[in-house]
Amino acid sequence: MTHKSCPKCEGEMILCYVDQGSKGILVKNADGDKLFGNKKNTRINPNICADCGWVEWYAVEPGNLK
Ligand SMILES: [Zn+2]
Repeated sequence: MTHKSCPKCEGEMILCYVDQGSKGILVKNADGDKLFGNKKNTRINPNICADCGWVEWYAVEPGNLK
């Protein structure tokens, strides 16, 4: 895990996960919608600045959306 600094205040960014869903929120590319499910999906997790509260979302498997 590479250390990131906040783009707003240069504080420490901490990778977190949401309390709903297992280790991330599932998001889907609408282009992948098919009768038997959508494989174009990934989970996303928030990277949060511990100083100012700025949040960035990161996809776990962004390549799946293509
Ligand atoms: Zn910050």
